[in-house]
Amino acid sequence: MADFKLTYATMFNPPEELHTRFEEALSEVRANLGKEYGMLISGEEYYAENKFKSKNPANTEEILGLFQTGTADDANTAIAAAKAAFPGWSHTPYQERVSLLRKAADLIDARIFKIAAAISLEVGKNRLEALGDIAETADLIRYACYQMEKSDGFVVEMGKDPLVGYTATNTSVLRPYGVWLVISPFNFPTALSGGPVGAALVTGNAVVLKPATDTPWSVRLLSECLNDAGLPEGVFNFVTGPGSTLGQALIDNPDVAGLTFTGSYDVGMGIYRNFAAGKYVRPTILELGGKNPTIVSRNADVERAAVGIVRSAFGLQGQKCSACSRVYIEEPLYDQVVNRIVELTEKLSIGDPTSRNNYLGPVVNSWAYRDFQNFMADLKQSGNVLTGGEILTEGTYANGYFCQPTLVADVPLDHQLWKREMFVPITMLARVKNLEGAMLLANDVDYGLTSGFYGSEEEARWFFQNIEAGVNYANRPQGATTGAWPGFQPFGGWKGSGSSGKNAGGHYYLQLYMHEQIHTLIK
Ligand code: NDP
Repeated sequence: MADFKLTYATMFNPPEELHTRFEEALSEVRANLGKEYGMLISGEEYYAENKFKSKNPANTEEILGLFQTGTADDANTAIAAAKAAFPGWSHTPYQERVSLLRKAADLIDARIFKIAAAISLEVGKNRLEALGDIAETADLIRYACYQMEKSDGFVVEMGKDPLVGYTATNTSVLRPYGVWLVISPFNFPTALSGGPVGAALVTGNAVVLKPATDTPWSVRLLSECLNDAGLPEGVFNFVTGPGSTLGQALIDNPDVAGLTFTGSYDVGMGIYRNFAAGKYVRPTILELGGKNPTIVSRNADVERAAVGIVRSAFGLQGQKCSACSRVYIEEPLYDQVVNRIVELTEKLSIGDPTSRNNYLGPVVNSWAYRDFQNFMADLKQSGNVLTGGEILTEGTYANGYFCQPTLVADVPLDHQLWKREMFVPITMLARVKNLEGAMLLANDVDYGLTSGFYGSEEEARWFFQNIEAGVNYANRPQGATTGAWPGFQPFGGWKGSGSSGKNAGGHYYLQLYMHEQIHTLIK
């Protein structure tokens, strides 16, 4: 496997050993299900009075682990621990911080199959998507380390002002803010926890991390890697519990100096408004939802377009922020592209996501399952279902949240579902007269996360100039709108999809975790 680098773009044809090692880890993980896990505060296990269970969405009778229902008091204890650890950590030379975080990334690599097995069971990701999630986590942490080193700790000598009789030294230094809060979503539980945590820690902030209630186990296993790397006490803390209580207490604590929230638009905007009620403005990195379009020109390669669209529409059951949920196809190629997309969709296998043969697993929970059914009730009235449209309830599907991958055409272009993130395996297709019309529709949403295009190179350049989104791909069979990787495609959104305008895993990201200080010394 030495020559193989797993990314979301390379994962379609992995070496056999990857499967063997995943299966070995899965057996080991399955033999130890149902254990109780604490929160981790100041490096110690920390237990709450009440507990909650993490369940397998493919078989809700399978209990994966028992987790702590942290309270507002627990949230405040974790923040106090981080606050106490901050001065020491922020003054630790960045080279030492980098070295500890690289150690954490190495531990992730060493445990990658075990953690991927847990992600597959807990989120319902197929095995390669699960491996991608945790592999990306290590790469995001390493990319943050690389940026820190490349910028030599972000210390820059400025010009010397011409003072007569004195010598001036002017230095610009980027310094950490303090306690940094990271709140992550269920769908990339480790990458979207580890990425921001890595950036916050390597820049010298102390961290409190809260995962989604659907995915405490995956994030606990990641947190163990950070803990075991030997970070000083209190520098990294992991708490679990409901967003509405424990999460809200974290947001409301005035000792939080900055935060990274990745999740839905509504929750993110609520947090943004709440956080703004503090005494002064604090950095707020929001990575929110998407309604990602793909445009197919009359000059497109039909096969590439169809393969890319199907992968991005139905990878992780349509529950990626970057999922391709809208497709606009120029009239002359419409029938050909649609027929091929339907054909490929009908070949997708759905079932236990840990099994090698299945591309789709279940949706994450009963809410998503119900959303799928409600959206379909509406779409069956307003459009034509080309394939799918049903939940699966028989046989092996009986105890899980399985929904068919679904394509819907002929929905009126003013229907609200063209603009609303659905986050289930439903993609809508429309015929357009020309590319200008397609672009108007593509941009006519409050989101601007990712997009895809298939057509000539000249058209692709026009597309890049006009699309309003943070991550854009042209002529990519590996995924029309999905599959970014740190260092290759830094990831972030425009408009309602993100707050900072700077993408994670890119050149400008790490700076968001520090404020600038100028040191002028006169000799
Ligand atoms: P949610 O917005 O439901 O939850 C995200 C996190 O916020 C969870 O940890 C949740 O905890 C927590 N939370 C909820 N309410 C509060 C609160 N009042 N205070 C503090 N924390 C709170 O998102 P999902 O987990 O369902 O994730 C899917 C969403 O994330 C989609 O919209 C998707 O597009 C977006 N996303 C965006 C990405 C990007 O990079 N732009 C990447 C991946 C996903 P709990 O689970 O306990 O409620």
